[in-house]
Amino acid sequence: MNQKLFDYIKASPTPFHAVAHTKARLSAAGYSELSEGESWALEGGKGYFVTRNGSSLIAFRVPKGDFPGYMMTAAHCDSPAFKIKENAEIPDKYYVRLSVERYGGMLCSTWLDRPLSVAGRVAVRTEKGISVRLVDLKEPCAIIPNVAIHMNRNANENASYNAAVDMLPLFGTSEAAGSFKARVAAAAGVKPEDILTTDLIVYNPQEGYSWNGYISAPRLDDLQCAFGSLEAFLTAKEGGSAPVYCLFDNEEVGSQTKQGAASTFLADVLGRIGESLGLSAGEQRQKIAGSFLLSCDNAHAVHPNHPEFMDKNHAVYMNKGIVIKYNANQRYTSDAVSAAIFGLVCDEAGVPFQRYANRADMLGGSTLGNISNTQVSLNTVDIGLPQLAMHSAFETAGGADTEYFVRALTLFFEKSLIMDGDGEYRLV
Ligand code: ZN
Repeated sequence: MNQKLFDYIKASPTPFHAVAHTKARLSAAGYSELSEGESWALEGGKGYFVTRNGSSLIAFRVPKGDFPGYMMTAAHCDSPAFKIKENAEIPDKYYVRLSVERYGGMLCSTWLDRPLSVAGRVAVRTEKGISVRLVDLKEPCAIIPNVAIHMNRNANENASYNAAVDMLPLFGTSEAAGSFKARVAAAAGVKPEDILTTDLIVYNPQEGYSWNGYISAPRLDDLQCAFGSLEAFLTAKEGGSAPVYCLFDNEEVGSQTKQGAASTFLADVLGRIGESLGLSAGEQRQKIAGSFLLSCDNAHAVHPNHPEFMDKNHAVYMNKGIVIKYNANQRYTSDAVSAAIFGLVCDEAGVPFQRYANRADMLGGSTLGNISNTQVSLNTVDIGLPQLAMHSAFETAGGADTEYFVRALTLFFEKSLIMDGDGEYRLV
């Protein structure tokens, strides 16, 4: 399972690639692509998917008969990275550097002195209008060099990184001037003059590997959950409910984009499923009341050198199972009811789970569930897999946990939630 995860990560240097890869897998499994710009005629017993901006995707299966609700998962496919600005090259007498800005909150030090590559998409001029091409240079083609210790004697005591000065990738010698766009165009299979504009990032192309019970790879947050929930969605046998798989872009920058978890994308898709199946507005509301969302995003494992950052009663460890995340201020959506329901799924699947809460004096991160609930409100639990070094260019997680996650989520997709009253539920 972890080798499949590493292959997925390698194929997904950017959200555009993660979505393209997911589309290919869904198409191969017999799912039909829908467009938001066309009308939908859905049939029971069939599977579909739709994308927005090429960087978010929702897939679902329509049950053959009436169904109680939607069993949904959401994960994000973006990771902190350096976005390459439109005028990409900064040439001088000896060097060509790339003009970049931060996307999301990365640990800057981890991006230094490692081989980096470039991927994303370009918008190109066509005879009809514009078209988008994906680009992945794959080979290392840039590096962000540290300053030598001899010139920065305090580097180990007080490291600080100015994104506009310290984090500019070196692309080549002065002879490389003018070649960046040509290289991107060649990778896209178009002429440089046909590129109208770009969405490119610098990314870590290192492959993942397993070692001593752990896995280390770039972008485990959140591709481990994105991959695991896709595997579960594709593997699950038909239950009574409609399974829905969501992959969202832009979580690392707050989700407030047209395709992020704060957008209308999920609400629009659910609404259109209801319309196409001829459900009344009231029937659709009943289904959503009996639906369930797993908001899947990785969690912080106890750090071996810094266990003090963990709440002692809610410390979670790699290889000890799925994490249910709690937060009194509802940055995580888990509550007594939703956590209880998910705990029952894990018990039935024979998968261990752990409970996480931040130290009361530390602010944690936010994630998808509470944001998505502002558009479609339903029972939601925040879960994830424990990992180290979140937002590093190279992260570490538990070797056993991916399989636990897939097993529990596969069973989740096969279940239906029956609502007998507010707070009264049965999993069948
Ligand atoms: Zn995340």
